[in-house]
Amino acid sequence: MKIIFLGAPGSGKGTQSALLSKKLGIPAISTGDIIRGILKSGGDKAEVLKSYTENGKLVPDDLVIELLKSRLSNPDCSKGYILDGFPRTVAQAEALENMGIKIDTVIDINVEDDLICKRMLSRLVCPKCGSVFNSATEMKPKVQNICDNCGAELIQRKDDTEETIRTRLKVYKEQTLPLRNYYSSKKILKTVDGGAPISQSSAEVLSLVKN
Ligand code: AMP
Repeated sequence: MKIIFLGAPGSGKGTQSALLSKKLGIPAISTGDIIRGILKSGGDKAEVLKSYTENGKLVPDDLVIELLKSRLSNPDCSKGYILDGFPRTVAQAEALENMGIKIDTVIDINVEDDLICKRMLSRLVCPKCGSVFNSATEMKPKVQNICDNCGAELIQRKDDTEETIRTRLKVYKEQTLPLRNYYSSKKILKTVDGGAPISQSSAEVLSLVKN
């Protein structure tokens, strides 16, 4: 099974992908996480990637497609996968098709801009294991500012600032929203209300994927 989560930054794609990954037993692949991994390890592409991510801009298609291709060649992808944050442009969606990949379902998570900004400003991430929490939702860490999974101190993402969030939403509307029509015309687009409590939207996601 191959599933894509569409939706603005901060709409809950990461949270929903992680929950669905556990339910279906297939990996959730986030291009944002792959890029943050490279930034952390300081690989040769780190400087170039950083110049985009820290300003809320999209990394060029050819670069991100190459990263995704390499990740999909991993044996854990053989039974299917969930894509979180890819594709983000029509060119990226076409690249998937050109790789011969047939997507079963695309889930578009809809959330109002105001709620997105609020969520992103209160989002906390673990610099050690990558877990994500949110001090303003039911995803609060058990102990304030401490990762439930590995005990490290939680931090804010560098691109979760008001200015960068505004840029990321603008970029999303200009470059990623056209994917709704792209997948709707292929009759595989399904929509979920991402403003609902996580337990409710994740149950909705599961039923959409199974039907
Ligand atoms: P995310 O964690 O999905 O919000 O991604 C963080 C940042 O990584 C984005 O703001 C982009 O700079 C970059 N990025 C992640 N996925 C992609 C993609 N599919 N295409 C281009 N840039 C991406």
